[in-house]
Amino acid sequence: MSPVSPRAAVVGAGPAGLMAAEVLSRGGARVTVFDRMPTPGRKFLMAGRGGLNITHSEGMDRFLPRYGAGEALVAPALAGFDPDALRRWCAELGEDTTVGSSGRVFPRSFKASPLLRAWLRRLGTAGVAFRPRHRWTGWVGDGALRFAAPDGEHVERFDAAVLAMGGASWPQLGSDGRWTEALRAEGAAVSPLAPSNCGFAVAWSDAFRDRFEGQPLKHVALSFGPHQSRGEAVVTRAGLEGGGVYALSGPLRDAVAAEGSAVLAVDLQPDRPREAVVARLAAARAGKASVSTALRKALHLSPVAVGLLQEAAHAEGRPLGARDDAELAALVGAVPVRLDAPMPIAGAISSAGGLAAAELDARHMLRRRPGTFAAGEMLDWEAPTGGYLLQACFATGAAAGAGALAWLAER
Ligand SMILES: Cc1cc2nc3c(=O)[nH]c(=O)nc-3n(C[C@H](O)[C@H](O)[C@H](O)COP(=O)(O)OP(=O)(O)OC[C@H]3O[C@@H](n4cnc5c(N)ncnc54)[C@H](O)[C@@H]3O)c2cc1C
Repeated sequence: MSPVSPRAAVVGAGPAGLMAAEVLSRGGARVTVFDRMPTPGRKFLMAGRGGLNITHSEGMDRFLPRYGAGEALVAPALAGFDPDALRRWCAELGEDTTVGSSGRVFPRSFKASPLLRAWLRRLGTAGVAFRPRHRWTGWVGDGALRFAAPDGEHVERFDAAVLAMGGASWPQLGSDGRWTEALRAEGAAVSPLAPSNCGFAVAWSDAFRDRFEGQPLKHVALSFGPHQSRGEAVVTRAGLEGGGVYALSGPLRDAVAAEGSAVLAVDLQPDRPREAVVARLAAARAGKASVSTALRKALHLSPVAVGLLQEAAHAEGRPLGARDDAELAALVGAVPVRLDAPMPIAGAISSAGGLAAAELDARHMLRRRPGTFAAGEMLDWEAPTGGYLLQACFATGAAAGAGALAWLAER
């Protein structure tokens, strides 16, 4: 690196961009962070409202496959900044972490605000400058960055830049996906941003929707082909949401795109063997209980679960009461729910799609824009909830920052 500290820009003040800024600043660069919003880290703060599941404690053999086709892109970054490194980093900022019963890792406060406050203070002390309300709109000529700001257009030149503008979910928090226009205009391969960890539209009957909107199907197992999840599914006016559904959202979304719809199977009694379900139903029905009463009393199914069975029976044109115990047990173990469309990306937890891995070299540098690096959710990978999203954003942010430092050192 030349004796004068190089100037580096980071565009996007989310977890990925702020981590890149930290690495660059520690490496001796003078860093300016731009964001289109008035304050940094808005989506990170929102993630904190749900408990801030920051990473996961499982071994890398299980962790890495969570990224599916994106594993090759994310794995090298995770090797450089793994869950233990992230936990140490949290502790350095005064937030020890704790492992929940599911193996998920949370800061002890279960919030993002103390962590973000301490982080911004540390970055400020290190001299990192923050320029809010600056929307990056592309490059000018040979590499100056162009921003739209409240007082008009700014063009600024830096020695290196890291782009970390997020996906397109919850656009009111800042990441609206409009960066895709500038990168496509450069000829970069950017796959369409699509909802990930999202709900799906279901054409419920009016009666079911009116009665059960907002009610959870608890402790269910969901399956779609070879993909399975356990957790909760919540009936909404428009369809089905909840952690169990989000976990399968990638394959479900792709199937809906390819075939117009996808059928999710809901197991309402995942912890009871099928024969036990049959025996319990048989005993209850022998006592002349109606089918709904048998389902509620013998299997302790909630009204919404019984409603879901009735909804499926109606769609199949064969009432529940006309089915024998074995047929009924089979339906309880796999209630088919037809999903017609993913819910819009604006309401999804995260985005799939983004800047293709092939556009980056091993240092996260854009092959077609030497000196420009990219990180975070704007890259083309997706992962389920469980801490995998933030872990990959922090890790790719660190990798892009280190890549930019290495590139600056060679100049
Ligand atoms: C409700 C909710 C809960 C979540 N909970 C969790 C969780 O518990 N665990 C987990 O791992 N993940 C969670 N996530 C996902 C996680 O928050 C994101 O994956 C993560 O914030 C992405 O980080 P990022 O830095 O890549 O992008 P972002 O955090 O989206 O930051 C991108 C920044 O870029 C800025 N920007 C965008 N375009 C421009 C532009 N053109 N010019 C200048 N600035 C721009 C934006 O304003 C934004 O500040 C949750 C998400 C949501 C919505």
